[in-house]
Amino acid sequence: MTFKSLGLSDALLKAIEEKGYDTPSPIQAKAIPLILEGKDVLASAQTGTGKTAGFTLPVLQRLAETKHPKYRPVRALVLTPTRELAAQVYDNVREYSTYLDIRSTVVFGGVKAASQIKTLRQGVDILVATPGRLLDLHDQKAVSFKRIEVLILDEADRMLDMGFVRDINKIISFMPAKRQNLMFSATFSKDIKRLAEGILRNPVSVEAEPENSTAEKVSQKAYAVDKGKKTEVVINLIKDGNWSQVLIFTRTKHGANKLTEKLIKAGISAAAIHGNKSQGARTKALANFKSNTNRVLVATDIAARGIDIPLLPHVINFELPNVPEDYVHRIGRTGRAGAKGEAISLVCSEETEYQKEIEKILKQKLKTEVIEGYEPKDTAGPKRAATQKKKSGGGKKKGVGASHRGAAEGNKKPKRQRPSDRSKSNEGSPRNNRRR
Ligand code: AMP
Repeated sequence: MTFKSLGLSDALLKAIEEKGYDTPSPIQAKAIPLILEGKDVLASAQTGTGKTAGFTLPVLQRLAETKHPKYRPVRALVLTPTRELAAQVYDNVREYSTYLDIRSTVVFGGVKAASQIKTLRQGVDILVATPGRLLDLHDQKAVSFKRIEVLILDEADRMLDMGFVRDINKIISFMPAKRQNLMFSATFSKDIKRLAEGILRNPVSVEAEPENSTAEKVSQKAYAVDKGKKTEVVINLIKDGNWSQVLIFTRTKHGANKLTEKLIKAGISAAAIHGNKSQGARTKALANFKSNTNRVLVATDIAARGIDIPLLPHVINFELPNVPEDYVHRIGRTGRAGAKGEAISLVCSEETEYQKEIEKILKQKLKTEVIEGYEPKDTAGPKRAATQKKKSGGGKKKGVGASHRGAAEGNKKPKRQRPSDRSKSNEGSPRNNRRR
C-alpha cells in the first residue's frame, strides 16, 4: 500500500515524502479513500495512529480540487478540544498544504483575538479551532460558517468530556445542512454514539484499533503502593531505569506542581503542564520535553490531550484516573509509531475501584506487583470511579465525566461565563453549564 495508490495528488505526495512517511498507517489506508469520495466517516482512532494526516490529506485534496469564491470563506473546519491539539493539527495542515493553493489558520483561547480576526478577514480555506474561541469570533462576525463544506470533529470524546457539546451544536447550527462530516474519537461511549447520530449522515465506520483498546505494543503494569510513597517510587523508577523521557500523569494541577518540585529536588529535570499554566509556559514545557532538555513532563489529563510526542518510551500514572477512558488516552501516549512502550500505574488503596473500572473497559486485568520495601500498608477505603453508581439513591448523572474531571483538575464549580469572558477563558475548562 502506498500513498499514491490511495488517490492523493502529486502536490500532497511531495509534502508527505518531505515528512518522511513511506506507507500509510491503517487508519490512513482506510479513511483517505472514503473521505476523498465525499463520505461521512466515523473513525475510532487515538492519537499516535496517524489520524491527523488521515483526515487532513483528503480534505486538502478536495478543497484544492474545488473552486473557491474570491474572498476565501472557510470551507473546512476542524474542531479540537484543546489549544495544544489545535496548534498541532494546524502545523500538520500547513505542512501538507505546502504545494497547494490553500490558506489555513488556527484560533484558540488564551491569546489575543486581534491577530486571529485579522487573518480570518483576509480569507482562509481551512480553519482549525477550539469551540469557545471560535464562537466568540463568530459572535464578533469575524468568521462565517455559511460556506462550510467539511466539518471535522477531532477527539470528539474529549470534547464531550470537556462540556463542549452545546458549543459544537451551536456552531453546527450556523452551517449549511449539506456538508461532509468526519468524526474521530478514541473511545465510544453511548454519548459519543448519540452525538455521532446527530451529526453524521450514513457514516462509514473505520477503526484503527479495536474499540476502547490500548495498543498491544504497550506493556502495562501496576504497582500496589501507599499514597505517601509514590513520589519515592517514581524517583527510584526513573533513576534506577535511567529513563530519559517520562510522561507522568497526575489527577490534579496541584499534584502536578508538587510532584514536579520534588523531582527537581531529587535532581531529575521536570516541568508541569496543566490548565493553570499560561500558553507560553505550556509550549515551553512541551518543547523542553521533546528536545530532551527535561527528562520528565508532569501533566493532567486535559493538558496532555493531543500532545504529539513520537516514540515516547515511558508513561507513569502517578494516580489512576477516575474516568476509565482517560487511562486509554494516557496509554495512547506511549508505544507510538510501532515503537514499544511501557505504562506503569501506581495504585494506592483508595484507587482500587478505579483500577477495576479500567480493567472492565480494557477487558483485561492489569498485572499488579508489590515493590520490595514498599509493601502497601494504607487502610483508606477505595473511592468511587466516575462510572460507578452511588450506593444509595443518586445514580449516574448525565455528564458525570465532566463534573468529576472538573473536581479532579482542581477546578471550582465553573462560573457562568458571558461571551466577552470567553476569549480569556481556558479552553481546558468544562463549560457545559454555560447558559447563553
Ligand atoms: P497523529 O495520530 O495524527 O497524532 O500522528 C502521530 C504521529 O505519527 C505524528 O508524529 C505523525 O507525524 C506521524 N505519522 C503520521 N502518519 C504517518 C505515516 N504514514 N508514517 C509515519 N509516521 C506517520
